[in-house]
Parts: sequence; structure tokens; C-alpha cells
Amino acid sequence: MADLKDTYEIVVGLEVHAQLLTESKLFCGDSAAFGGEPNTHISPITMAHPGTLPKLNKKAVEYAIRMGLACSCEISRNNYFARKNYFYPDLPKGYQLSQHTTPVCIGGHVNIKTAAGEKSIRLNRIHMEEDAGKSIHDADPHNTCVDLNRAGVPLVEIVTEPDIRSGEEAYAYLTELRKLVRYLSICDGNLEEGSMRCDANVSVRKKGDPNLGTKVEVKNLNSIRNVKRAIEFEAQRLIDLIEKGEPIIQQTRSFDAGNGTTFALRTKEDANDYRYFADPDLTPFRVTNEMLVAIRRDIPALPEERVTRYTTELQLPEYDARVLCDERETADYFESVIQHTSNYKAVANWMLGPIKSWQNENNAAITQFPLSAGSLADLIGLVDSNQLNFSIASTRVLPALLKSPEKPPLDIAKELNLLQDSDESNVAAWIEEVLNKMPEKVAEYQKGKKGLIGLFVGEVKKISKGKADPKLTNDILLKKLQS
Ligand code: ADP
Ligand code: MG
Repeated sequence: MADLKDTYEIVVGLEVHAQLLTESKLFCGDSAAFGGEPNTHISPITMAHPGTLPKLNKKAVEYAIRMGLACSCEISRNNYFARKNYFYPDLPKGYQLSQHTTPVCIGGHVNIKTAAGEKSIRLNRIHMEEDAGKSIHDADPHNTCVDLNRAGVPLVEIVTEPDIRSGEEAYAYLTELRKLVRYLSICDGNLEEGSMRCDANVSVRKKGDPNLGTKVEVKNLNSIRNVKRAIEFEAQRLIDLIEKGEPIIQQTRSFDAGNGTTFALRTKEDANDYRYFADPDLTPFRVTNEMLVAIRRDIPALPEERVTRYTTELQLPEYDARVLCDERETADYFESVIQHTSNYKAVANWMLGPIKSWQNENNAAITQFPLSAGSLADLIGLVDSNQLNFSIASTRVLPALLKSPEKPPLDIAKELNLLQDSDESNVAAWIEEVLNKMPEKVAEYQKGKKGLIGLFVGEVKKISKGKADPKLTNDILLKKLQS
């Protein structure tokens, strides 16, 4: 039997809800902060008391447009919110305010990179809407409780075209998207806590078939890895159905992370009638040129742009550049250090090596790293000028420096008596001692076993406790061994 993976093509479109990091809700001043004691972020507007009126949060609009500009979307100038009417206990108004047919951002794309190469995932739209509250089923044995803190919190929904062809591509897309919202400071990108939520629309078709197959929508995906697992499971299930000659029903399914499978939640009716209409309590909002200029000014250099600059202007390996740009704070720190030194590669090495280890050991963000950019550059300078070797600088000087970050690295190296010795007579004395200790090795070297030079250098390093200047050591050693 031919491998089914070669016969079929997986088609995926993702819908991502990202909770915007505004202080207040989309249509009132209640706190939009995550969590809080249940029902403490609720004014009469959130509770939908009669006679209350919504007022649009400008910051949320700015954040949505920031995302749109970063993804090269077209920005709609005239916008309004529509009422999407339905009943649910966690929806106090009986409708959700959403930009039904008029998304503020249209089109655009997000570039991804996988083992197969680079690819652009087209976006269909980014629109704004308000979140619903939360029904809590496990707090009381007899009742369902409702927490309305989340009701009215601003969201953007980012919808792709069905351009994704594998679980791996979905993984890369979500990783990129999360990086973007974090760079833009519009969402904390936390899938585990639900501030970023993803629904995966999955279908399969025979390769070469221009038509899309019937899709199923998978929900409850609380990590990027689970999105990938769910897509892989679901695609195989759909292929198996087709192979058995069974029909595929358009469904909403839920992912069970415990066993990696999906199960049906509900079968989608053809025509959900939400009776959309423009909310009469809100005036339409216009996006002006001045707003666009101001929002664009607030967009920092994005990861792709930085990776390109690091690999071209700064000549860093692509791997280093990508790791440095994974988080904006890391890239920002890197950029502040290179204001003080032009040894870019050394800065990258320090950040990917000893500093990353420090972060891992302390479970800390780069913003908590105690050393100023100038101080790290000074430490790198001591290595560059042969006053310290890298291993001593990272294992001895750095830990002391972390305890007294205000002290100059040179002072600490002096206090600990770790500065390299470039005094020719001192180095020569250490070399003498080593060569006297191993006459057979010296004889072997002189008979042609030139590789032994490494051994001598290592021994000198050892007895000088790393203080012998390595270049000088090498030069003097070569001279002595010739004689
Ligand atoms: P719905 O109205 O059911 O939400 P949309 O047309 O708005 O459907 O599309 C929702 C998401 O599903 C989009 O990301 C879109 O790219 C994706 N999608 C649509 N049709 C398919 C399909 N046949 N297979 C996979 N994904 C699809
Ligand atoms: Mg949908």
C-alpha cells in the first residue's frame, strides 16, 4: 500500500484569539487584568445593566492596528462594531460586540521558517471583539458559577488563510505569532493561561485536488505543541475516514491532551443566525492618517528585521542571530552592549553561553540580569586585551561581578588576583618548570610529535592557574622547544 501521507495533503487554517494588554476593558473602565477574585472587575456596564452605554477603548484599537501594521495588513479606515446575538450564561448582554464584516486589518502575512525552508502564511483578517465571562463547573457540586471578570476584555482574532500544510508549519506559525505579539507588547502570548487561544481548522484532500475538503474545527488547544499534536491526529483520522469510504461531517471537536486524541463537541449547523447588526450605542470609529503615523512610530524593530541586520551588518551566524531575537528584551540587551564594544560575536557568545546559563539557573528574565551593558562590555574588553582568558572571566570573574555589579570588572579581576600575566620572565619561569617536569615528552616533540604543544600549553595554564598569557606562552614555548 502506498504511504497515505504521500497521497493526501493536510490543509489547516488557524484562528487565534489574543487578549490585548490594555489596562481597561474594550468598552468600559473595568480592569482588564488577568485573574483577580471572581466578579471584582465588573461595573454596571460589564454587567449590562439597563441604560448603561459602552465607550470604545482607544488603546485597544491602537494595539490591533499595531499588529496589523506589523503583519503588512491593509488597515480599514471606517469601522464599526456589530452585535452578535446569542444566549449564554457568561454573556450578560445577550450579544457579543465584534467587528463582524468590517475587520480593522485585512490581508497581510506572517513569515515562518521550518526545516523545509521559508514560507509566507497569508492572513485573512485581524478583527477586534470582546471576550465573554467564564462558566466555572467545578467550584460548587450543584451549580455552575459565573465569573464575569473576563467579560468585555479586548481581544483581537487573527485568522489565517488555509495556507498551513502540516503540524510543524502550524507550530512555526504560532511561535512566530507569539513572538510578534510580545515584541509589540500587545499581548503576553501565554497559551497556558489562555491569554492567547488557538482553534485549528483541519481538512485533508487528495494531492493536486484544487478544492478544499470538509473541515473540522479543533478547540481547547492550550499549548503550541498541542496544536501540532491535534493537527497530526486529526489529519490522520480524516484520512482514515476517507479510506474507509465514510463521510466527513463538519464538526467542532475538542483535543484531549492526555491521550492525544480529539472527540466531537457539536456538529456545526449550516447557518448560525446571529442576527448581526451595527451596535446603535457606539459611534463608528475612523482611523486617520495621523493615527497610523503615530502607531507606526511605536512599533519596534521586529525580529525578522533584526535577524537580517545581525547576520549582515554584524556578521553573526544565523543561529546566534535567531536565538538573540527570540525575545525582544534579549535583543534589546544585546543591542545596548554593542554600543560599548565592537566584538559582536563575543557579546553573542556571552549571551548564549554564561548569561543564558545564569538565566536558566535562576529562572530569570534577561531584564533581571544584574550587569549593565557597559560592565559586560568591559569584561569582554579584558578578554580581548588578553588580560583575562574567557574561561576565567566566565567562571571566576562573572560570579564575583554578579555579587557586586557596581564594581568595575578590572577591579574584581585584580582583587581576585586573576589578571593574566604578560610578564615575559614570569611566563618563561612557568614554562621552564613544565619542560623540566616532562623531559620524555620534550624529546618526543623534538623527534616530530608536534601535537604535544597542546599538552605543554595546557600544563603551563594549569600551574599558572590560568594566568599565563596564552599567546606569550605559545611564543616562548616554540622558541624554547626549537633550541
Ligand atoms: P467559519 O465561518 O466556519 O469560521 P471561515 O471561512 O471564517 O469559517 O474560516 C475559518 C478558518 O478556517 C480560517 O482560518 C480558514 O482559513 C480556515 N478554513 C476554511 N476552510 C477550510 C478548509 N476546508 N480546510 C482547512 N481550513 C479551512
Ligand atoms: Mg470560525
